[in-house]
Amino acid sequence: MRIDVVTLFPAIFDSYLTQSLLHKAIVRGLVAIERHDLRAWAEDSPHHKVDDKPFGGGPGMLIQVEPTVACVREVETMHPTPARRILLTPQGKRFDQRLAEDLAGSDRLLLLCGRYEGFDQRVQDILEPEEISVGDFVLNGGEVAAMTIIDAVVRLLPGVLGDENSSRDDSFSRGNRLLEFPQYTRPREFEGHSVPEVLLSGDHAAIAAWRAEQTQLRTQARRQDLLGEEPNG
Ligand code: SAM
Repeated sequence: MRIDVVTLFPAIFDSYLTQSLLHKAIVRGLVAIERHDLRAWAEDSPHHKVDDKPFGGGPGMLIQVEPTVACVREVETMHPTPARRILLTPQGKRFDQRLAEDLAGSDRLLLLCGRYEGFDQRVQDILEPEEISVGDFVLNGGEVAAMTIIDAVVRLLPGVLGDENSSRDDSFSRGNRLLEFPQYTRPREFEGHSVPEVLLSGDHAAIAAWRAEQTQLRTQARRQDLLGEEPNG
């Protein structure tokens, strides 16, 4: 997979791209992530200004349509694979595990990160991206939202996780769309809290049954809205 990220603050991704699972996935060639500084497409070249005041008044600035459209069109020509265009906005479709699985099936994503009061509406009208929100709250910019999407999508790519089953059992995932069961590691006992005996029994059938039951109980207690969902939908 290739992911192009259009942003005014490419350095925000510096540490994120050089750590842990994502870094390994990049080094192993499972994903390529390219950042593009929108200011490089500024018409006002000495100041690299890409924002202006909203018509009709109001606080804040908007990212202008000309540099954004020019940037996206040029970035798309940098690689032959057609890109799935995504614009991060709190007004978009809510991101969830199903959408992450859907995006993980794409060969190329192009993520447009907003700043200030967001983009001039004509960016959406002309480029017709999918608009995605990471939740009903407002961030300062789309970069953290883009990282959220990259993180959730890349871990689903074949070969990224050491054990493919670990993403199948994850909460909300294809296995059952419910919450994952509780997990424990050493020590067996800490401050009077013991690991459930069944997990120490070595009886794989009993462990699987306990985990299935815990998944149901936990989902019932915390997220009843997930019960009755189509597991593979
Ligand atoms: N004025 C905009 C509104 O009310 O819809 C919010 C602008 S926000 C301060 C700046 C940028 O952060 C947005 O253009 C978007 O790219 C990003 N952003 C903020 N909240 C987000 C969310 N929940 N999901 C995805 N992107 C978000």
